[in-house]
Amino acid sequence: MTPRLIVGNWKMHKTIPEARDLVERLAGLLKKSPPTNITIVIAPPFTALSVVASILVTHSLSKTPPVLLAAQDMHWEDAGAYTGEVSPLMLKDLGCRYVIVGHSERRRYFGETDAIVRKKVLAALRHGLRPILCIGETWDQRARNQTESVLAAQLTEALTGVDKDQGAEVVIAYEPVWAIGSGQPATPSQAGEAHRHIRARITALWGHETGGRLPILYGGSVTPENIGELLAIREVDGALVGGACLDPSQFARILAVANSAKA
Ligand code: PEP
Repeated sequence: MTPRLIVGNWKMHKTIPEARDLVERLAGLLKKSPPTNITIVIAPPFTALSVVASILVTHSLSKTPPVLLAAQDMHWEDAGAYTGEVSPLMLKDLGCRYVIVGHSERRRYFGETDAIVRKKVLAALRHGLRPILCIGETWDQRARNQTESVLAAQLTEALTGVDKDQGAEVVIAYEPVWAIGSGQPATPSQAGEAHRHIRARITALWGHETGGRLPILYGGSVTPENIGELLAIREVDGALVGGACLDPSQFARILAVANSAKA
């Protein structure tokens, strides 16, 4: 089994001094009891990527087991007249290995459509960045029994044109919109059901080998208290953590539980 993947999304939090403090404290906790069974990814805001990258190197946390860097978004073009945007090449410069795409906050507040998400997925793959593709239903859609059709449409539209080999680099994050930042996570059975559906769609698209291996993360109000029961679901390969990753001791507790969770 591939190691579980835990991603911390800092969203629009932390100035540079605050980012430095968070990573220094996290580094201290990880050095005391280094997790060996998981892959750790952190996604600071663009402004803090550089300083976080150099702190990871200073503490040898860029080595084994590495803490890898992600960006929270990017533009799909390599360069051009796109004021305010950041390109995949710029993220590579900063040492990013992953990029979050299609987060529900980007869809909701910045009008990001599945067509835009698809361009970002393709651009990330073209540049060797692993896209963490976020999909999920709203509470209304769930109440109307549309969860599966919403997930299927988001997957199909974002992944059209991605072939099986590129597909092996994709990470999916199932993030029910109603669970994000609400303190109301999906139950293990709701998460398991959605993950099984996603796995089936991916397998239909790219076959058993890629479909069986592709990491599917759960995101939405993950805490040190609930991560264990979520990871106990066979179909949950890791977590995308928002609020709880802003506190280094909470994030380290999540990592410790994930590290000792049974395969
Ligand atoms: C997120 O932003 O992707 C997220 C899951 O947030 P939270 O953990 O705060 O619900």
